Amino acid sequence: MARRSAVTPALAPSGDTALAVLAGVGPAVAAKLAARGLASLQDLWLHLPLRYEDRTALTRIQDLRNGVPAQVEARVVAVDRGMRFRPTLKVAVEDEGQGTLVLRFFHFRQQQVAQFAVGTRLRCFGTPKPGQLGLEIVHPSYEILGRNDDPALGDSLDPVYPTVEGMGPATLRRLIGQALDRLPEESTLELLPPGWLDGLALPSLRSALLTVHRPPPDANLAALAAGTHPAQRRLALEELLAHHLSLRRQRIALQAHHAPPLAGPGRLCKALLKQLPFALTGAQKRVFGEIRDDLAKPRPMLRLVQGDVGSGKTVVAALAAMLAVEQGKQVALAAPTELLAEQHLTNLRGWLEPLGVQVAWLAGKVTGKARSKVLEQVANGQAQVVVGTHALMQDAVVFHDLALAIVDEQHRFGVHQRLALRDKGAGGRSVPHQLVMTATPIPRTLAMSEYADLDVSAIDELPPGRTPVQTVALNNDRRPELIERIALACREGRQVYWVCTLIEENDELDATPAQATYESLQALLPGVRVGLVHGRLKASEKLATMVAFKAGQIDLLVATTVIEVGVDVPNASLMVIENAERLGLAQLHQLRGRVGRGSAVSRCVLLYQARLSAMARERLETMRQTNDGFVIAEKDLELRGPGELLGTRQTGLAGFRMADLARDADLLPEVHALAERLLGEKPAVADRVVDRWIGSAVKYAGA
Ligand code: ADP
Ligand code: MG
Repeated sequence: MARRSAVTPALAPSGDTALAVLAGVGPAVAAKLAARGLASLQDLWLHLPLRYEDRTALTRIQDLRNGVPAQVEARVVAVDRGMRFRPTLKVAVEDEGQGTLVLRFFHFRQQQVAQFAVGTRLRCFGTPKPGQLGLEIVHPSYEILGRNDDPALGDSLDPVYPTVEGMGPATLRRLIGQALDRLPEESTLELLPPGWLDGLALPSLRSALLTVHRPPPDANLAALAAGTHPAQRRLALEELLAHHLSLRRQRIALQAHHAPPLAGPGRLCKALLKQLPFALTGAQKRVFGEIRDDLAKPRPMLRLVQGDVGSGKTVVAALAAMLAVEQGKQVALAAPTELLAEQHLTNLRGWLEPLGVQVAWLAGKVTGKARSKVLEQVANGQAQVVVGTHALMQDAVVFHDLALAIVDEQHRFGVHQRLALRDKGAGGRSVPHQLVMTATPIPRTLAMSEYADLDVSAIDELPPGRTPVQTVALNNDRRPELIERIALACREGRQVYWVCTLIEENDELDATPAQATYESLQALLPGVRVGLVHGRLKASEKLATMVAFKAGQIDLLVATTVIEVGVDVPNASLMVIENAERLGLAQLHQLRGRVGRGSAVSRCVLLYQARLSAMARERLETMRQTNDGFVIAEKDLELRGPGELLGTRQTGLAGFRMADLARDADLLPEVHALAERLLGEKPAVADRVVDRWIGSAVKYAGA
């Protein structure tokens, strides 16, 4: 990463100036700002408003709408200081239109209570929500008015900034204002060469910054509120450019390393293919071809294989592994859960041991002597393919000659874990090739930006003979009917999944709801063989139950979302997902992918608890309408935003200040073209762009 010292002198006198030059910034304030990654004037210029508050108008209480921020002018009519669960201050106010509204405070000072004498006039701003007595606003911002005060309304939008811990919003706003007063002239501030943005109808960076921080009254306020104002797009463009450049740079750095070329004749691949009970699909062949081309090069591969659930990624990974084994090298395959890792182990042992390939197992529960033995085999090269969980990434695991690291469902791992495996190449002299697999389809827009450091292959075809799953949404009060249908299906020899979702996000946490459902279904379905898997069971118990289900010895499997990934039982043709309204689209799609793997028509019943929120209704409707993982992923992006979708919030990648990948997707082609041009013609400027937007964040994260 570029360091701050890489900034050229032209920018240094202004942008790089430490914040101590601002009035009111002593060591204590500077430390608070630094803790938020704000160390220079430039950092404050780029501390962009999260949103705006519109105080340009007053709203009558009777016209307030749930969830729509508004400003109200009213008189205090009653004050109630309660202590039910925690201290609460409730102030009822009424306006000219006779509407009443409750202002509720959970944190307040004694002097505040005194301020709200009955009859006091005030102006307040906030977001109304339904309360016990009609609408209420929790912690409004407010201003007490004198008897005859009638202050002018704002003439523009007020910016709301991301908070700095230990600092009030007014102080922060004042400091940003001071920093803006020191904005240098346009030509000094602009990093992109003159003329490069011509034709885009975007303002200069200087003008864009002033507009977003201090929207002029004549600005298009609706566009600003929506984030589509040209000033915002100018900033988003440069920010996206910085992110893209930083990923491209990481990739260039990676490609400078050596990796062992794996270009054998493919004897083991042929042997594996010969043994399989099926032929590869066209998509599998194409993707394996792409991997094979990468692996033949003396530079590390970094390829993401995305393929919908059931598209057959495992066998492609196994073929890639054979290319490494054939050259006398080692392969690691990591999966995020023990259940999934064990399933890979079973598959790979079944396929590879007949070819004389040694497959070793390393998970957290492998301990003591067994663990020492595996570690020894990994270190001396006897273990040719090592399958496991996070345990593979620990320091104690030293490979003899790791040439290929495969990570399944990588979004469940952090970027750092992926890197930990990468660093296990032969004595640090070479870097292993990396193959990353995911069944969470990544919308095209995201694949182009967040994954600019990866090559992407898509297995966009399912093996033949699969029939699309029919999905219905069913109100929980029709459960008895559903149970009758399950009894019937089981009598016909079909197998059924019943998935219980938990209130806790963490599926390893609590097994009781699944246990209770298991017991009640057992009672309601005499003659049906019911099994149970959940996260609290030992991996061996889970596996035993799954094996019994796969062998047809269990008809109905009650499970928590632990079965989400990887489980493969083609005869299962009905899935019930209980409380489906609680799950996100990606997870619902993953779960549903467990059925529809055989030739029988499969059904998925999304059992929901009324009443549905608008979001939940839309999710269930999407699931009903399509089986296409890409359509679902695009919808998910629209409903949730990209950070959550990729699980990148932990990695810091999706922490954009201005850009929004869904909203600003149309800028990406321009961003990519600019990035290529900069890297080719002005690499030093590329460094400065990265440094400006993410330099300090990176430094901060590394500290
Ligand atoms: P995923 O991509 O979800 O990881 P898997 O690799 O688990 O999918 O494959 C799902 C199932 O499809 C497995 O039983 C696998 O053996 C089978 N399979 C894979 N490729 C093919 C193919 N070309 N034809 C038929 N079945 C296949
Ligand atoms: Mg899989």
